[in-house]
Amino acid sequence: MTQSVPHEVLLLFIALGVVYLAECFGRLRPGQVAVEQRAFGGWKLHTDGWFFRSPLPGGLLFVLDGWRLGASELAAYAETPHAVRARKPSGWGWRRAPWDKQEILVRHDEVRVGGALFFRGETPARARALARALARLRRAGNPARERSKWIAEALDAEAAKGRADEVGKAATPVGVASALWAGWLLLITVLLLRDFRWIQAWPLFLIGGLALYSAVVLLYWRAHRRIHPDAASDRRQQVIALALSPLGAIRAPDRLSRDALADHHALACALALLKGPALDAVARAALIEVLHPAIEPWQPHKPELAADRADFLAFVAPSIRAATSELDPDRLVIPDPPPNPEQRAYCPRCFADYRADVPQCDDCGGLALSRWPSASQAD
Ligand SMILES: [Zn+2]
Repeated sequence: MTQSVPHEVLLLFIALGVVYLAECFGRLRPGQVAVEQRAFGGWKLHTDGWFFRSPLPGGLLFVLDGWRLGASELAAYAETPHAVRARKPSGWGWRRAPWDKQEILVRHDEVRVGGALFFRGETPARARALARALARLRRAGNPARERSKWIAEALDAEAAKGRADEVGKAATPVGVASALWAGWLLLITVLLLRDFRWIQAWPLFLIGGLALYSAVVLLYWRAHRRIHPDAASDRRQQVIALALSPLGAIRAPDRLSRDALADHHALACALALLKGPALDAVARAALIEVLHPAIEPWQPHKPELAADRADFLAFVAPSIRAATSELDPDRLVIPDPPPNPEQRAYCPRCFADYRADVPQCDDCGGLALSRWPSASQAD
């Protein structure tokens, strides 16, 4: 006869299940893009908000923080001397040495130049990528040429594909170990729930479990060193977090890959990994970012920085357009026409539909609306 499972054990399993489900949720901020490889399928695109990641181990998850290449902080970054002037804080640190002689430091998600905060990346990997590029632009004899090279590299879809493959290869041993670890936890759960006498075999469970769990943590450390060789302090933090979260270890592979494409533009990653409507969505966002940028609230107060941003967008737009040439960029940046286009207008950025007599889109900072061709011809 089987013994019934004590209440406490059931409660423990329920608590562990809740922690696991929390691990399966990924949080994305607006403007980020996540590309996920299902265990036995192709790549899938997530945009902003909550999403439920595949609960099965295997597959990879990349979060493309760098997709707003045309955004203000990157414009500032491409025009670093201006940006430093515009953001120069009062303080002795900045008087000590000219900006291009000061040390560039990354602390978690912050890039610091000469001790002062220069900008904040969306993630530590993004901050490291920005710091690398900043150092490179600063060293360059000809910053304008270096900037073109940097943009071409960020938009190189083959390089993004190569990096994704390299990350996939480095993450495979972690994926195998974490899948075995998940299977082990599942096996124990089923055995204990079926017949509680199994608990007498706990030394066996403990030794087997410890061996698998240590393998996940150790392999994670090795793979992280391969994928992010310049992120020692980040690695330490992550390995400690992993060593304290047995359920988090099931998701180890996508922790590993999450930020691994930070050096590449989201468009390059999408061209490398996605197709069909998912690719169109990223390409549209990248085009709109450079062709119809939102009018930001800070712009009137920082005209110099706003001018840098406009210059940068104009500079990068042809490269973005060229990268999307096979997708028909003109089609991507126009919404589907409404039933009676001549009485309507649309926002070229968010595609909101308006009456023809409304002048601007307030959601996009007061951007001028576009009118449907038939409406202009009627004038
Ligand atoms: Zn709008």
